[in-house]
Amino acid sequence: MIASMNRVRCLVFNAALGPLDYKVPDGMVVEPGSVVECPLGPRTIIGIVWEAERLPGSEVPAEKLRNLRGVLPVPPLSAALRRLIEWTADYYVASLASVARMALSSGGALKGPASITEYRLTGGLPERMTPQRQTALEALEGEQATIRELAGIAGVSEGVLRGLVNQGALEPVQVDCDRPYDAARPDFAQPELSEDQRDVADRLCDAVRAKSFAPFLLDGVTGSGKTETYFEPMAEALRRGRQVLVLLPEIALTENFLHRFEERFGAKPVVWHSSLKSTERRRAWRNVASGEAQVVVGARSALFLPFANLGLIVVDEAHEISFKQEDGVRYNARDVAVMRAHFEQVPVVLASATPALESLQMAESGVYEKLDLPSRFGGAELPCIATIDLTEEKPGAGQWLAHRLVDGIEERLARGEQSLLFLNRRGYAPLTLCRNCGFRFQCPNCSAWLVEHRFTRKLACHHCGHETKQPETCPECGEPDCLVACGPGVERIADEVAERLPDARVFVATSDTLNSPSRAAEFIAQVEAGAIDVIVGTQLVTKGFHFPELTLVGVVDADLGLEGGDLRAGERTYQQVAQVAGRAGRGEKPGEVLLQTRHPEASVIAALAAGDRDAFYEAETEARRHAGAPPFGRWASIIVSSEEDAEAREAAQKIGGHRPHVDDLVILGPAPAPMALLRGRYRYRFLINARRNVQLQAIIRQWLSEIDHPAGVRIGVDIDPYSFV
Ligand code: ADP
Ligand code: ZN
Repeated sequence: MIASMNRVRCLVFNAALGPLDYKVPDGMVVEPGSVVECPLGPRTIIGIVWEAERLPGSEVPAEKLRNLRGVLPVPPLSAALRRLIEWTADYYVASLASVARMALSSGGALKGPASITEYRLTGGLPERMTPQRQTALEALEGEQATIRELAGIAGVSEGVLRGLVNQGALEPVQVDCDRPYDAARPDFAQPELSEDQRDVADRLCDAVRAKSFAPFLLDGVTGSGKTETYFEPMAEALRRGRQVLVLLPEIALTENFLHRFEERFGAKPVVWHSSLKSTERRRAWRNVASGEAQVVVGARSALFLPFANLGLIVVDEAHEISFKQEDGVRYNARDVAVMRAHFEQVPVVLASATPALESLQMAESGVYEKLDLPSRFGGAELPCIATIDLTEEKPGAGQWLAHRLVDGIEERLARGEQSLLFLNRRGYAPLTLCRNCGFRFQCPNCSAWLVEHRFTRKLACHHCGHETKQPETCPECGEPDCLVACGPGVERIADEVAERLPDARVFVATSDTLNSPSRAAEFIAQVEAGAIDVIVGTQLVTKGFHFPELTLVGVVDADLGLEGGDLRAGERTYQQVAQVAGRAGRGEKPGEVLLQTRHPEASVIAALAAGDRDAFYEAETEARRHAGAPPFGRWASIIVSSEEDAEAREAAQKIGGHRPHVDDLVILGPAPAPMALLRGRYRYRFLINARRNVQLQAIIRQWLSEIDHPAGVRIGVDIDPYSFV
């Protein structure tokens, strides 16, 4: 069959074009999934050979077909990955090309085997020593990298290093770009599992051996040892020579995970995330495609890697909203992971202490198999949660922490224990205004206030990154010394702790301060060494950490998440507080959690304080059922945007004028989006609510395909949206 394929249909990397047909020249061998070079006018574009029957295209007569130019030196994309690409494009109303591009996510990898020249010290000294050469020699001890990378490490110019090469102090080494990774050993350090853990691990190992699609919801309280437990089926997959994909939400904080992985398997896993260097990217991609990479730990984009021989997928902290991609193809990695497992015919484990309602519902209806780890490993108790009603226990003027909370921190300080204050707001204050004229600092590109960052003395927009220096005088009325900070961010809370407890060593843990793996590692080491007494942090510190001396968690504003009014606000607050509470009392000492709130009676807060998870999920389930919200009904949103307000508005009205009229489907809008201006674009929104029986995607695709727009208009479709801004 392959030999007779002299006419092929290709999915080409150009969203404006449909599939194109080409002739396969004599001597060239292609099959579905082959990555090929296609002529297009005078240019060459990349394409993927696809089954013609799955990609309707135009029937160009054979004599008009142009020859394919070449086949790229990578294995053909597997049928399972091709089906995943089709499903993702179809479900999320995206173009096939934009999804396929996520699979070919390393340009370098497509070029085939290669080597690069790296340099390392020889031990020899240059004839003439200069201060810069001296610096370089000291800094580069034990390093091996390209000249440019070494210059970055040593903080000297590339010229200085070339001088050292000429003098024989640095020597070149040829390195294979795609050299294999250290081997992970399934039996390197197998832990003694508790009985509960053993039962769960056995079930999962069976599923790995069965090598068929099996979705699991691993529901285990914080500290129950979910990681230790799912390491076992991973080991089982490795023993069988199969690959494993582990998806984690916050790649910045995988340091802790990587460390545990190495202790268990004796080698580091392959990591995959958006800020990999291009050389690391190609090495990972090619090793995944060849089947040599054993375990990939990655952010959501790792889902589209070309695994040769996948045996298991694990999604840890599966409830996390950061699994939802919010630009480009708006997919939810948790759901796509289940589909990948389906197409690959392998088990998939969704692990969480606070599963998404959608996942629990799938377990209840028998689609997912639920596995429970109901208690903490080693008998540690779950922390006791109490509320502080801020309307009664008011903090002092200009303060945000109630006395009871500060007393709690002080007690821990006296005992040499640690406390964590959680507030999901970076910076010093979320709003700055002029006391004299009322002027408020707003982002020029977004419908958002600028956030004061006192460490860097800047006002910043958290949506687009716009920054400006904090001025001395009000830009509106010119009055000096009149600017006041409104509301607290983590920096302000840290200041308050430092002021009220001057002996406390306080650390602000946010994406501003823990912005690299090495900084994250240093932070962990400092906490473990007892060099930090109080951590003030955002959601970055709510998960993954295991600090035995941390016995108090204070939630500065438990109501914060409830303000936005979006449909998952209650669930998100519950998950966030439960996660951060799970950081307390993980060692032998019991933990305590204090929630500051103005609404102790709200069902989320009451359920948290009572430790009654089931009551919360039941109330939430009923509310969603009533509202026709997921998982009982479906939502979609359409955002129409342009740099010109009028253009965006007109396009939205035109779309509104063509709205379909379908039973069981309600379309709201167009209306200005809550973030009516975002990164310089004006935005209008439709919200669509449908019953489960409605063919939502097909209707939206048909609806939008009928209308043309000016080039400056962008239309974004979001199926199962998480963000309602
Ligand atoms: P979870 O992810 O469920 O919150 P972890 O996997 O982080 O829990 O486990 C909590 C702590 O207990 C970790 O320090 C882990 O190393 C330890 N632990 C869990 N199970 C075992 C085990 N079987 N043997 C030794 N230590 C364990
Ligand atoms: Zn902005």
